[in-house]
Amino acid sequence: MKTNNPNVKGMNRRNFIAASGGIILAAGIAPSVLRGAETFTIPPLPYPENGLEPVISAKTLSFHYGKHHKGYVDNLNKLVDGTEYADMTLELIIQKTAGQTDKTAIFNNAAQTWNHTFYWRSMNPNGGGEPPKSLLEKIVSSFGSFDECKKQIVSAATTQFGSGWVWLVLDGKVLKVVKTSNAEVPFVKGMKPLLTIDVWEHAYYLDYQNRRADFVVATLDKLVNWDYAVKNFEATI
Ligand code: MN
Repeated sequence: MKTNNPNVKGMNRRNFIAASGGIILAAGIAPSVLRGAETFTIPPLPYPENGLEPVISAKTLSFHYGKHHKGYVDNLNKLVDGTEYADMTLELIIQKTAGQTDKTAIFNNAAQTWNHTFYWRSMNPNGGGEPPKSLLEKIVSSFGSFDECKKQIVSAATTQFGSGWVWLVLDGKVLKVVKTSNAEVPFVKGMKPLLTIDVWEHAYYLDYQNRRADFVVATLDKLVNWDYAVKNFEATI
């Protein structure tokens, strides 16, 4: 995965070993000893906590980023400490644990760590409006019109039963709107995410209560970061 993707690990074990000329490996220090230098960290928000108001309140963003997202990162660090996953990238941990019933906790926390970083980047304070021309043309060829694309995003969001995510993805040569449950991520099925909207209740309930559709429509109209979608669209996997 390229740099547009939110792999938040500061330094993985392989880089650490490379940087130290292989001395660590030669000395046979256990991976758990190395964890101190390579824990996953939560990236800073790309905007202030009140930067998405009035669509998303500072209170929602403060809890969502500072409690929920941070909680997933902290849990992930505890869960992978001393395991075979300790020196893997975030994406690789997600790929390796997806669908493995005995690895659900690691998958959930790794995927939620990735999803939230991707979600913050999927918005910006001056977002919304129309996508740049290159992406707009692809949207029109895939959906028929930009309105139809937005309609499918809102429909997916409101029909996702319980917690989950709505995504604009590149699947092969076409763009699609897909929804996933809980922590599921489209890239484990070979689809490239361009944008996401979090439709867990914690994403909107303080501001919109049960009106999930209003939250999604407002996000599309005012916040969605089409420039980020273009970067992801143009990046090679
Ligand atoms: Mn969330």
